[in-house]
Amino acid sequence: MPIRQLPETMINQIAAGEVVERPASVVKELVENALDAGASRIEVATAGGGLSLLRVIDDGCGIAPDELPLAVGRHCTSKLADDIHDIRSLGFRGEALPSIGSVSRLVIRSRTPDAQGGAEIRVDGGNLHAAKPVAANRGTLVEVRDLFFATPARLKFMKGERSESAAITDVVKRIAIAFPTVRFVLSGSDRSTLEIPSAGSADPSLERLAQVMGADFAENSIPIDAEREGVRLSGRISIPSFSRATAQQQYAYVNGRPVRDKLVAGALRGAFADTLPRDRHAVAALFITLDPALVDVNVHPAKADVRFRDPGLVRGLIVGAVKQALAQSGVRPATTSAAAMMAAFRPGGARWGGGPDDSHPRERRGGWSAGSSFQRPLGGFAEAAQAVFDAVPLASADVRTEMHAAPAEAEPHPLGAARAQIHENYIVAQTRDSLVIVDQHAAHERLVYEALKNGLEARPVAAQMLLLPEIVDLPEEDADRLAAHSALLARLGLGIERFGPGAVCVRETPAMLGETDVQQLVRDLADEIAEHDTADTLKERLDAIAATMACHGSVRSGRRLKPEEMNALLRQMEATPGSGTCNHGRPTYVELKLADIERLFGRR
Ligand code: ADP
Ligand code: MG
Repeated sequence: MPIRQLPETMINQIAAGEVVERPASVVKELVENALDAGASRIEVATAGGGLSLLRVIDDGCGIAPDELPLAVGRHCTSKLADDIHDIRSLGFRGEALPSIGSVSRLVIRSRTPDAQGGAEIRVDGGNLHAAKPVAANRGTLVEVRDLFFATPARLKFMKGERSESAAITDVVKRIAIAFPTVRFVLSGSDRSTLEIPSAGSADPSLERLAQVMGADFAENSIPIDAEREGVRLSGRISIPSFSRATAQQQYAYVNGRPVRDKLVAGALRGAFADTLPRDRHAVAALFITLDPALVDVNVHPAKADVRFRDPGLVRGLIVGAVKQALAQSGVRPATTSAAAMMAAFRPGGARWGGGPDDSHPRERRGGWSAGSSFQRPLGGFAEAAQAVFDAVPLASADVRTEMHAAPAEAEPHPLGAARAQIHENYIVAQTRDSLVIVDQHAAHERLVYEALKNGLEARPVAAQMLLLPEIVDLPEEDADRLAAHSALLARLGLGIERFGPGAVCVRETPAMLGETDVQQLVRDLADEIAEHDTADTLKERLDAIAATMACHGSVRSGRRLKPEEMNALLRQMEATPGSGTCNHGRPTYVELKLADIERLFGRR
């Protein structure tokens, strides 16, 4: 076969496959162009999730009539840097406009500040029409209609209008955070208007964060400001009590460019590891500023990824600065002093009813009872033992009967008979040859999760009517997402309805959750759905929803249980596969063999 050069339109459509994945990516490119043009006001309008119409209007420097054809020409840019590593504007690849024009009906109308009139150019599925003079306001209007009409295969990948317009909102917010003095308006027939006025206060950056992320973030966050070897980090992080169910609300910027970088997300997770449970995520806006030569922004066509010359430096800077800020604000990391004692315990998840009994646990754990390592576990155990006595007067009223009741029938059970509840969260149980401590919150969470998953497969989960319906105010896209999943949520026992543009009304909650914080449950579900909407299969989405609900329904620590309730929980755990670990992979119970206890006291 002869070798031929690809036609221009096809080249652009191939590029479009990478640069314009969905309507939100078009918005990103057009808004970035407007910012590069020095705009102070940017208006974005959408219809049909951006698939039928996207319009971006700015008051920037405009494009001269004779340059319009160049703007839509491939590899044409006014942002040429002398060095590919010295890129200071948001654009530079000269790819966006020709790519967009190759897959849609594109119109650009523009006027430069000193020109009398403006000019307009059209590109229809890659066909360029001659530029013509028109009346125009100062600045640039870019209109994209029928996105992907020229590449129908791509259209099939779109998620539906709601999801696409939500993604557009996210893009605009993300960019708006980095440009606090620019006014943004996002409107359209498929949404209610989002207006972000220019931040004019003494601290525009903080004002903008409050505008975009909500006043409560501004109030529940602490500033970050650090520098290491020429890399500067600034921004704000939430305090641990203000966490979310997903990492969606983490905004990162490198030299003013919004990025979705795994390094930043990972560093945040690391920095919060001691203060946040694994299933909660900090809310953050972090700005990294460094010599452009030390970062490659050219690794991804949509310029959303970056590559740092020294990733370890950036990671260390983030982890260090965040930890320090948390410490200074009085947040203490969760203590891990019990770790030594934990080494003597067997984590839950034992294979009862099968497998040989492990009668030599000492070898498995590396013989800690010898010599020098003896002191620490002993200290830890002594502390815990004291705690048991402290707690007994609280729990004993409920438990006393059980103490005298014949434990004979309970003991044969793998998790034994409940003897006491301590610190209102831990059930201490006795088996024939061991001591079991159950984390009742974690255990209950796991059981509810399994029951909800069963409910999804078999019959709907029982719901309980709220005495008064509860209204939860939410960002519109969250309310949309919840409403779109209402049938499914109903199967799980959560009766939810749309209540005006930015709210939902909750009438029923799953009975097994008991009394639950409806507001927080609904917000966490919205987060969860937002994150899983985009990528995962229905099955994964359902499991995630079930897990989020389960977390809310668990017997929270702090609830006093009656002996029969405790025993019922133990029996239920034994009957539920996988109940040895909670939904987050932590053990739901630990077991200490009698032989080990005897060793602890030097009896063996
Ligand atoms: P890039 O942004 O990488 O340069 P684009 O294809 O996005 O490539 O844009 C091509 C060129 O068109 C830009 O370099 C710029 O000169 C011009 N341009 C695009 N949008 C605007 C705008 N809103 N205002 C002024 N000039 C613009
Ligand atoms: Mg551009």
